[in-house]
Order: sequence, then structure tokens, then C-alpha cells
Amino acid sequence: MKLIILDRDGVINHDSPDFIKSPAEWIPIPGSLEAIARLNQAGYRVVIASNQSGIARELFDMTTLNAIHQKLHASAQLVGADIDAIFFCPHAAIDNCDCRKPKAGMFEEISKRFKVSLKGVPTVGDSLRDLQAGFRLGCVPYLVLTGKGEKTQQTGGLPPGTQVFPDLASMVQSFLKTAAQRPD
Ligand SMILES: [Mg+2]
Ligand SMILES: [Zn+2]
Repeated sequence: MKLIILDRDGVINHDSPDFIKSPAEWIPIPGSLEAIARLNQAGYRVVIASNQSGIARELFDMTTLNAIHQKLHASAQLVGADIDAIFFCPHAAIDNCDCRKPKAGMFEEISKRFKVSLKGVPTVGDSLRDLQAGFRLGCVPYLVLTGKGEKTQQTGGLPPGTQVFPDLASMVQSFLKTAAQRPD
């Protein structure tokens, strides 16, 4: 099974320092949904792993998060993209849960749900903690420079082997080209 794990804010949609608190604030980055469609066409199942501490901070509730994700799914469908599942952590750092990235809890859940090892599974994020979480389970890290990506690149400390791309569209273009040259 071919699987890819994406962060949400700053990778698929524009991020905001004030959090994405409503469907209206969820705005896709140009080309990101089309890139997901291309992944699907190449046989990849696309899964999201997203920290959503705005829930714990009571900036928005589960009903709103579901509405945001309905918009995400609907926008994806319009361009023929399919997102298999959205895993999210609703906790804040002080909750000390196991799912908030950089911890690997959501990635462990994904591994269990899809009954696959995450060794070699690509994961795309704009924050260091996205890449650290996946790297713990053997994911191959990709940093995009959208969202917090530029700041993340400047700060450094990326997991070894992290590849950097301007955005999800360019990452996917290069990734699929390389994958096509490689036997499964
Ligand atoms: Mg992000
Ligand atoms: Zn959590």
C-alpha cells in the first residue's frame, strides 16, 4: 500500500498565527489540492496528521473543526482529490498527551489503522515537530516552505535526510517523478 502523511495548516491550506478557527478561514494553498489528486492518481492514499490545540484553547469546538474538514473534503473533491482520513490532536502542550506532534501518537494510530509500517512513508510538514513525529517511526521527511516552513528552515535542526521544497505542489511533482524511476 502506498501512503503519504501530510500536515494540514501551512501545507495544504494557508496558516494563520491566530489559528484556523472557521471554514471561512480555511483557504487552500494554490496547487495543493491538485497535488493531492496527482498523488491519488499515482495510487497513494493521503492521510492528514494535524495538531489542533485551538480545541483545547477553546478557540473553536469540534462542530467547527468538523465543518472545516467538510470544506476541506469538498474542496478536494472538486479537483478529484481524496483524503482518506484526518487524524488530529485536540490537546494543548500542557495536556502532555501522546498525540501532539512532535510525539508520534498520531503516526502510531495511522500505522495501526492502515496496518502498515511507516518505514519509508513520506511525510510532509512546515514545522520541525511534524517531521520529528514521523521520523520517529521511520517516515521520510519533507519540509515545505509555505506556512511556517521558511522559519523552520532558518531555525535548522531538521531530521537527517530532510528534503526541502517551495510548496506541496513542487514536492509532489518531484516525488512522483523520482518514484516513477524506482521499482515499488
Ligand atoms: Mg503546519
Ligand atoms: Zn493530543
